[in-house]
Amino acid sequence: MPYTGAGASGINLETVTLEELQYQYHAISGKTGGYVTRLGFIEEKEFRRILEYIVLRDYDGWLVDSLEEYYRYDTSGCFAKDARWHALDAYLSGLQDNERWVGYLSFNRKYRPGLIKGRTFPIVVAECCHKPGPITQVQFDEGRTTCPICGRFTGVKLVGSGAIDTEKMEER
Ligand SMILES: [Zn+2]
Repeated sequence: MPYTGAGASGINLETVTLEELQYQYHAISGKTGGYVTRLGFIEEKEFRRILEYIVLRDYDGWLVDSLEEYYRYDTSGCFAKDARWHALDAYLSGLQDNERWVGYLSFNRKYRPGLIKGRTFPIVVAECCHKPGPITQVQFDEGRTTCPICGRFTGVKLVGSGAIDTEKMEER
């Protein structure tokens, strides 16, 4: 365990939940930045330490490591700089399970293929890349039409539906 003390926040690390740490916004208190949660203001470093503690406590290290790897290598590069933070933030909000997330299919296909296997998804073609690819049904239904190839928000045309091959990995 990298961190076992309750620290400045006085939060009980054995019982604190991710729900309690959902933050409303980032704020500055005195000279330090932090997050405003229903448990109060938690300074950035402390917030991160608490999250890392929960990751180990709940045996989710593999998941957050996967998210970190995803942010470091599988995104356009804008998340690579602090991939660990993006991974923790995603884990905090349950992004990996959210079918509205633009990375839902690419992340889960690679790291949790069991979630994708055997399901059928809308196959669309976007104006930018002109190559067919899957998006989630929720994204399609809500008109959150993201290009399945480059991730850009754009107009898409439904061309069919199909399962995603989880055995063969394509380069994005
Ligand atoms: Zn595109």
